[in-house]
Amino acid sequence: TYVVTENCIACKYTDCVEVCPVDCFYEGENFLAIHPDECIDCGVCEPECPADAIRPDTEPDMAKWVEFNRKYAERW
Ligand code: SF4
Repeated sequence: TYVVTENCIACKYTDCVEVCPVDCFYEGENFLAIHPDECIDCGVCEPECPADAIRPDTEPDMAKWVEFNRKYAERW
């Protein structure tokens, strides 16, 4: 899965939401979250993010971000 990380906080861009083929972004007031069970790992959103906030969970220390994204995606 891809995950949204801290650079997204208070970011005003939603380019990623527009390109996601499965609509797995969820919008909160100050942050976007990717539902990790819905993301198909296509990678299309990553280069679209002007804040460089979207990372693949294969990078180190991403487990906490996966859980953070899941928590908010399910809440919103
Ligand atoms: Fe959507 Fe693809 Fe990004 Fe996953 S990697 S959030 S499916 S655009």
